[in-house]
Amino acid sequence: MLDKVVIANRGEIALRILRACKELNIKTVAVHSQTDRDLLHVRLADESVCIGSNQPLDSYLNIPAIISAAEVTDAMGIHPGYGFLAENADFAEQVERSGFTFIGPTADVIRLMGDKVSAIRAMKKAGIPTVPGSDGPLPKNKDAISKIAQRIGYPVIIKAAAGGGGRGMRVVHSEASLIHSVSVTKAEALAAFGDDTVYMEKFLENPRHIEVQVLSDGQGNAIHLYDRDCSIQRKHQKVIEEAPAINIDEEARQAVFDACIKACLEINYRGAGTFEFLYEEGKYYFIEMNTRIQVEHPVSEVITGIDLVRQQLLIAGGEPLSIKQSDVKVQGHAIESRINAEDPNSFVPSPGTVKFYHPPGGPGIRVDSHLYAGYTVPPFYDSLIAKVIASGESREQAICRMQNAMEEMLIDGIRSNIPLHRRLMGDQGFCSSSYSIHYLESILKKHH
Ligand code: ADP
Repeated sequence: MLDKVVIANRGEIALRILRACKELNIKTVAVHSQTDRDLLHVRLADESVCIGSNQPLDSYLNIPAIISAAEVTDAMGIHPGYGFLAENADFAEQVERSGFTFIGPTADVIRLMGDKVSAIRAMKKAGIPTVPGSDGPLPKNKDAISKIAQRIGYPVIIKAAAGGGGRGMRVVHSEASLIHSVSVTKAEALAAFGDDTVYMEKFLENPRHIEVQVLSDGQGNAIHLYDRDCSIQRKHQKVIEEAPAINIDEEARQAVFDACIKACLEINYRGAGTFEFLYEEGKYYFIEMNTRIQVEHPVSEVITGIDLVRQQLLIAGGEPLSIKQSDVKVQGHAIESRINAEDPNSFVPSPGTVKFYHPPGGPGIRVDSHLYAGYTVPPFYDSLIAKVIASGESREQAICRMQNAMEEMLIDGIRSNIPLHRRLMGDQGFCSSSYSIHYLESILKKHH
C-alpha cells in the first residue's frame, strides 16, 4: 500500500485526492505554485512544497520540480489529478524511472491513447465502434485529402491527433474550405500541442456525448461503472454531466460496456479510465479514451456508491480489484453542475477574492469545492471553482434538487455561471432530456 502521496494538482481535484488519501491513512504532500499557498488542500496536507511561480509551466507542468518534491518528502506515489501532467506519458515514465508510483496507467498506455490516431486504431482492433474517418493521419497531398473527405462525406471534422480540452478541432461543410481548414488546424495543433498531426472524421450532426467509466487493475480484472451523458457542452467543453445515461438502446449499451471491458484487458489498462463516444440513432462511435480521473467522476460515484479515487489509490498500491461487475448496481440518478468563475453571459473568466461563500446542502447534494470566504481565485488557471452534484431516486428529483441548490448557493465578490445552471434546470429541453451536443449553444444563441 502507498504510505505517502504527492498531489500534483490544485483546486477541487487536489482536495478530492487529499480526502481519499486521508480515508486510507495515506500521508499527503501538496505541491503548489506561489499564489496557491492558501489553497484549502495545501493547508490540510501533512506537508507542502512550493514548486515554482504562478505560470503553469513553472509549477504544475514542471516535471523536475514535482519529482524533486517527491524525493525530499520521501513520498511513494504521485497522483496527477486531471489536466496539467495527467496524460503526459513522459511524466509518467520519469516518475516511475525515479522510483515512484505513478497513480494511473503505464506510460505506454498513456502514449497509445494520447495520440487519438493510435487510440482509434487500438480500439478498432478491440472491437469498439469508431467514427468513419481517415483511419490515420491526413496525407500532405491536397487531392488525397479531398478524396478522403469525399469518401467520408461532408460535413467532416478535422481533429488534432494530440488534441484535448476541446481545442484543435474544425468542422468543414464543403470542399471549398477543406484545404484551408486543414492547414489552419495543423498550425493550431502545432502551437497548442507541439504536434501538427491531424486526422479526419465524419462530423456527426446531432449526436449525444456518452461515456463509459471503467476501473481496471492491470492484473486481469476490469469492470465498468455504467455511463454518463455529457451532452450539455459549450465550445466542446462539458458544462453539465449526468449518470446513468438514459434513453439508450439497451442492447447496444450492453455491447459497448462489454467491448470497453474487453479493451481494458487487451491493453492491460491500469487505473480509472473513460471511453468517450458519440451516440446517434442507436449507434456508438468511439472518439477518445481519457486515461485519468475525470472532472465528472462524482456522478458515477454517487449512483454506484464506489469511490473512484480510493480505487485509483488501491490499484496503484498493487491491490487486485476487489469489486466484481455483479457488485456494481445503479441507484437513482445524479447530475453535476460545473461552477466556473466567469461572467454568466460573456463567459469571460472572473478571478478575484471571494467575499462570502455559502454552499448548498440538504438530501442528495454533494459539493466538491476548494472555495472559502477570503480565498482569492487566481487568474492563471482553469476557472472551475466548484462542482455541485445533485442526486435523487429519479432524474426529475435530481433536477429539482439541483434547482434548489443553485438558488441556495451564494458566491460573492466574483462572478459565476450559477445563473446559467439555474436557467438550465428550468429549461424544458433539458428537462425532457431529448438534446444533442449542440443544445446548449443553440439556446444560448436564442437569448442573444
Ligand atoms: P477533446 O479531447 O478535446 O475533449 P474529443 O475528441 O473528446 O476532444 O471531442 C470533444 C467534443 O467535440 C465531443 O464531445 C463533441 O462535442 C465534439 N466532437 C468531436 N468529434 C466529433 C465528431 N466526429 N462529430 C461531431 N462532434 C464531434
